[in-house]
Amino acid sequence: MAQGARVWPGGARAAVSLTYDDGLNSQLDNAVPDLDRLGLKGTFFLTEENAHWRLGDWQALAQRGHEVANHTMTHPCALNGYTASRFEHAELDRMQGYLDAHFGAIGERTFAYPCGYLGLGHGDRRERFGRYRRLLQRSGVVAARTTAGGPNRPGEALADPLRLHGFEPTYDGDSPAPALRYLNETIAQGGWAILVFHEVLPRWHGDGDASIATHRSILDHLAATGLWCAPMGRVFDYVEDRWA
Ligand SMILES: [Zn+2]
Repeated sequence: MAQGARVWPGGARAAVSLTYDDGLNSQLDNAVPDLDRLGLKGTFFLTEENAHWRLGDWQALAQRGHEVANHTMTHPCALNGYTASRFEHAELDRMQGYLDAHFGAIGERTFAYPCGYLGLGHGDRRERFGRYRRLLQRSGVVAARTTAGGPNRPGEALADPLRLHGFEPTYDGDSPAPALRYLNETIAQGGWAILVFHEVLPRWHGDGDASIATHRSILDHLAATGLWCAPMGRVFDYVEDRWA
């Protein structure tokens, strides 16, 4: 592929994925209406444990072009109690099966690491991540998001797709400023921003929540800046096509 083809769709200066973790009701009630108003499509990392309460609403959301993806069945943070095979069977594959059954079998999916932990089983960091990576690959996961790091450079994302960086813009406080700084940095690099949200509530309580107002102002800014906003799987497909 010619170098000149390595641009984002529509000549956008950067790509952005809006990601929402844990299958929370507040996302359906408070985030999705603003996404839909602006015509933006998000990525929703569901756990069966939470998503089953409002499965019909999640299915309707997927029908409108939002991405639903794997965040395990029960969101285990402490992985010490799991053997690799139990984690693979009970958390990864069962969740892939749940998504296949209720949202259609698409084969390839994206994933977000519960609690941002990248290690599984014994050994040093490299061994523990290597083990996790092999299970994800076997489960049909093509791209996986962490909760740390700066803007993604397409070449790096392609080289290490199971360790995509994510940024939690309201982790330290309820202001759009960190998100705007991060987006500016992404534009300067011509990269790919992945924003991470959890609860979207009338008021911010900490722990990575966002207020409806802050979430809305980040989305309004995005829409006005003309960045290419698309679900994580769709941006990753694009990167695979253009940067491979
Ligand atoms: Zn989570």
